Amino acid sequence: MTVIERIKKDPRVESISDERAAGDGFWVYLHYGYYGYEWSSHIIHEDSPSACLSYLRDVRPCDCPECKHVLAEQKNKTKKEAE
Ligand SMILES: [Zn+2]
Repeated sequence: MTVIERIKKDPRVESISDERAAGDGFWVYLHYGYYGYEWSSHIIHEDSPSACLSYLRDVRPCDCPECKHVLAEQKNKTKKEAE
């Protein structure tokens, strides 16, 4: 498995953006409910996928107002759909 495949497979990762061709590194967008401890941000931005992968180890559960709000809405939605 390549490094990028490993990042994509991580259940905490929402999406990735490879901007290396434009000289802007590699971006990993985390799902709501997680944040990168190193930057206190929901996005990991590094020069290379392997650097992002190593920082994924430092991802922690996030309970910032934004995450709380979105997760609560998602929960409500799932509940409504089940009814
Ligand atoms: Zn958050």
